[in-house]
Amino acid sequence: MTIGILGGGQLGYMLALAGYPLGLHFRFLDPSPEAPVGRIAQRVTAEYTDQDALEKFANGLELVTYEFENVPVAAARCLAKHVPVYPPPKALEAAQDRLSEKNLFEKLGIATTAFAEVNKASELDAAVKRIGLPAMLKTRRMGYDGKGQWVLRTYEDVAKVKKDFPAAQLLLENFVAFQRELSILAVRGRSGETAFYPLAENHHCSGILRLSIAPAPKLSSLLQKAGEQAAERVMRELDYVGVLAIEFFECNGELVANEMAPRVHNSGHWSIEGGATSQFENHLRAVLGMPLGATTALGVSAMLNLIGEVPEAAEVLTIPDAHLHLYGKSPRPGRKVGHVTLRAANFEELKGRMARLPGFFRRPEFCLPAEPVAVAHRS
Ligand code: AMP
Repeated sequence: MTIGILGGGQLGYMLALAGYPLGLHFRFLDPSPEAPVGRIAQRVTAEYTDQDALEKFANGLELVTYEFENVPVAAARCLAKHVPVYPPPKALEAAQDRLSEKNLFEKLGIATTAFAEVNKASELDAAVKRIGLPAMLKTRRMGYDGKGQWVLRTYEDVAKVKKDFPAAQLLLENFVAFQRELSILAVRGRSGETAFYPLAENHHCSGILRLSIAPAPKLSSLLQKAGEQAAERVMRELDYVGVLAIEFFECNGELVANEMAPRVHNSGHWSIEGGATSQFENHLRAVLGMPLGATTALGVSAMLNLIGEVPEAAEVLTIPDAHLHLYGKSPRPGRKVGHVTLRAANFEELKGRMARLPGFFRRPEFCLPAEPVAVAHRS
């Protein structure tokens, strides 16, 4: 049985690794001849807009899924004429545009940031008046890892961005003074059954995820329930099948939705060793209509992203229950090239293991908190 995957980056790589024990084969489509999955699976190099290539790609596949949310919706719709596509293309469409995402959250009664559409420089002042400062200006589409974002703290910042205004549809959001960032990974099967991983606490630096701790320290059942409810509503609304991620800000004990991803997610990588079933295996189980696996955490885990360079493997692997994942990408500044997961029985032990990480991880850009426990928040 061969599964087609649009996108051939590290998420696809880990999907394939999770699928091989289930006897699955994979065929990837990615415009880049360097896509890392080429090391381990059949890769078709073609543009997502190449209809002939899409049709050829679909031939003989059981189903198609994606590991990259900026695949053109038209490509997913074109494939859906030949083969089942999960999650449904309408989920891809909703998640590709920050405006439709926010509108969906609002429609479903999920708290989100205040927002205003901005399509040209002359509309910015009115949006700032409505939203207030500080605020964050973001491109509606194609933004990821902090790209396409401008923090506006003062009216000088507003004037500056107006002078060199980005040629894109934008969204202005209020700058949220959050206590911490959390995400939920949820999975929904073909017949509507759902399962939820415990919320992870995420630390970003320059808009890029550096560290996730799961389950989030001091996680109350109330907060977990709120995350699950939000994911449940989104998945039901979109007839969702597969893994969905929603990122939140925690503000005074409440969750405020920031964005969602209709795919497996970086903040769920801990589940490979730290979950009873990994997010990757559960995504495959869901799209294949198999029973979902347990989403319970096995102890507590910290996942650290390797951005642009990798540490000495031996220095990481000497730590008990440390796991190194290298994606086979050539290192470049700002590029996610691998991750490390540390697993422990409890937070005390995890703290000890994090303290043993080599000097490589002590640089400020890793955002390692002094304590691996969240900043104070109400639970
Ligand atoms: P995003 O691409 O929306 O996930 O943003 C990347 C990171 O920027 C987030 O994880 C936050 O750390 C920060 N960020 C994004 N939007 C806001 C906001 N409205 N208020 C405060 N911080 C934000």
